[in-house]
Amino acid sequence: CGIVGYLGPREAYPIIIEGLKRLEYRGYDSAGIALFDGNDLKVSKTKGKVADLEARSEKEITKHGSVGIGHTRWATHGVPNDVNSHPHISNSGELVIIHNGIIENYESLKKELISRGYTFQSDTDTEVLVNLIEDVKKQEKVKLGKAVQIALNQVIGAYAIAVFDKNKPEEIVIARLGSPLAIGIGEDEFFIASDASPFLEYTKDAIYLEDEEMAIIRFHKGIKIRKIKDDSLVDPYIQKLQL
Ligand code: GLU
Repeated sequence: CGIVGYLGPREAYPIIIEGLKRLEYRGYDSAGIALFDGNDLKVSKTKGKVADLEARSEKEITKHGSVGIGHTRWATHGVPNDVNSHPHISNSGELVIIHNGIIENYESLKKELISRGYTFQSDTDTEVLVNLIEDVKKQEKVKLGKAVQIALNQVIGAYAIAVFDKNKPEEIVIARLGSPLAIGIGEDEFFIASDASPFLEYTKDAIYLEDEEMAIIRFHKGIKIRKIKDDSLVDPYIQKLQL
């Protein structure tokens, strides 16, 4: 299971696909990608290998866009199939998420969301999380980062997530508890990955998120890291990788 993301001036697709291949050693049963192509969100996902995802993307999407997130799934909730593969999209079609880990209290959260009119395509805990974030965002009228934070404070479990809003694609929000997540910092570009291997050829500057931290990554603006629980700001510690 692995996460790769990109935000910057380059084409995201090849960076994400190559990155997912470097994370294959972690094991997985499905793979998927979401790209913002300048106009809209493009998603391609499939049970199987990253090579299967490439074949499918070739037919399904334009593969253009400089904002994107990719995922390899190791199924915990819902069998390995195309629908359960990540990314998952919220009911409005606006938010897209990838997730490694487990949302333990997903059933009660799902019941609550269903009672408020939400519907679900997949059997995953992850689709519950993206709709919870959407619900918080709408109810509380807050920005994505705040909505992610409030939602995660209602969640029991483990996660590394990356999420963005197709109406605000210059920003990616990530968070971790129990699953690793690193940010690679290039020149006006950002990489996100489960470990540094997907971005080592582009930059040696990395921030490793700690448990219970989230980061809001903004094109041209930089990174803000906060503690999920008490909202305190964290001073980013940029490591020079020697690898
Ligand atoms: N719990 C999620 C699912 O089953 C994520 C699994 C993973 O870590 O890849 O879809």
